[in-house]
This record gives sequence, C-alpha cells and structure tokens, in this order.
Amino acid sequence: MMSQRTFSIVKPDAVRNGHTGAILAEIEKAGFKIVAIKKMSLSVEQAEGFYHVHAERPFFGELTKFMASGPIFPMVLEKDNAIADLRKVMGATNPANAEEGTIRKKFATSIGENAIHGSDAEDTAAFEIGYFFAGYELK
Ligand code: ATP
Ligand code: MG
Repeated sequence: MMSQRTFSIVKPDAVRNGHTGAILAEIEKAGFKIVAIKKMSLSVEQAEGFYHVHAERPFFGELTKFMASGPIFPMVLEKDNAIADLRKVMGATNPANAEEGTIRKKFATSIGENAIHGSDAEDTAAFEIGYFFAGYELK
C-alpha cells in the first residue's frame, strides 16, 4: 500500500503516568514518521466534537470527561498502510484483550483509560487530522 497518514493521540492517562516518550518510541520503532505533534489540553466541548461519532454510546460522558482530564499529545503519523498498521501496534480497545507487545498491553490501565487513540478509517483520519492541525503544520 502507498504512504498514508493517520491520526493518533497519547491520551491523558499515558501522559500522567509518564509514558509519552515510551509510546513515541514504539511508534517510531514500528516505522511511522511523526509528521506533526503538539502538547495541549481539551475542553469537554472539544472532546465531544472529536468523539462525536460516539455521542449516543453510554460511555460518552465518561470518555469526553477523561479526554479533557489532562494534557494530551495529538499527532499525525505517516507510513505505508498507516491506518491499519497503527491499530495493530495499539492493540485491542480493552487492554485485557490486547496482544502481547502492543502499546495498550504495555501502557493502558482499562478500557476507558487506554493510553492511545488511532483513526479507524480514511474518512475519520481526514476529519481528525483537520480537527487538530492546520494545513500549514503538515509538511
Ligand atoms: P480510539 O477511538 O480511542 O482509538 P478504539 O477505536 O479502540 O479507540 P472505540 O470503539 O472507537 O475504540 O471507542 C472510543 C473510546 O471509547 C475507546 O478508546 C475507549 O476509551 C472508550 N470506550 C469504548 N468502549 C468503552 C466501554 N465499553 N466503556 C468505557 N469506555 C469505552
Ligand atoms: Mg475509535
């Protein structure tokens, strides 16, 4: 597959627990180029906009409050087959089900506080990149 971009976030639990550097190292080791990255905090309203596809899910309130609970590192990543490959490196949503060696197996605490986000498709990646980064930040 050709070079592709995906969007990822080091979530507040991983930043709080001091795992940002280790997670970035896993991502680079897996062959991703970091196209853009920044440190910031989300308001609950900004987290709701980001996760709008989950608005009807029972965990939406918990999820958006958690995402606004502390600093995060949103980033844009690039490699061949980036979207699917990042999902593999991340592991299952629930760390209890995540394969050995995956980021969530190593660094996530629970299904709610699971260390990292990764886009799940081309259209969501495009929306998520545009939600966090301006065109001039993406070289
Ligand atoms: P993400 O979108 O953050 O990369 P994902 O694609 O693996 O995670 P989704 O189904 O998109 O999983 O859910 C988004 C997020 O909502 C999950 O990462 C998790 O933090 C939270 N979540 C999902 N299911 C539950 C649940 N049953 N209880 C609590 N939180 C949940
Ligand atoms: Mg998802």
